[in-house]
Amino acid sequence: MKKDNIFMNIIQKKVKTDILYQDELVTAFYDLNPKAPVHVLIVPNILIPTVNHATTHDEIILGRLFIVAAKIAEQKNIHSSGYRLIVNCNDHSGQEIYHLHMHLLGGKPLGPLLQK
Ligand code: 5GP
Repeated sequence: MKKDNIFMNIIQKKVKTDILYQDELVTAFYDLNPKAPVHVLIVPNILIPTVNHATTHDEIILGRLFIVAAKIAEQKNIHSSGYRLIVNCNDHSGQEIYHLHMHLLGGKPLGPLLQK
């Protein structure tokens, strides 16, 4: 598994990206190809390639993803209208970047969870 990836470069500020939020555990930034008016990615600062790689040691980090998602949803004023949180894992989900991340999507009705 590659140790270097685009999200790690963003977290470490090696590439220029608007960072919406960063603390000692997670970083949040806009998705490059937004699928909704609000599309933010929230990622652990350490490399956990997929959900399958998460361990009990990562519980605080994984919990922080939700806390930060809700905080950003409030800042973006979509916390009342609603939003969707998605974490893809491996091929069938369409995971592109093998650095675990949570998608925060909102700002319009998002429709059904999956297309048939
Ligand atoms: P996945 O399919 O792995 O769950 O989602 C990866 C997401 O990362 C995609 O929505 C894609 O648009 C986004 N993405 C890919 N490369 C970059 C990048 O260089 N910068 C940012 N901000 N987002 C990216």
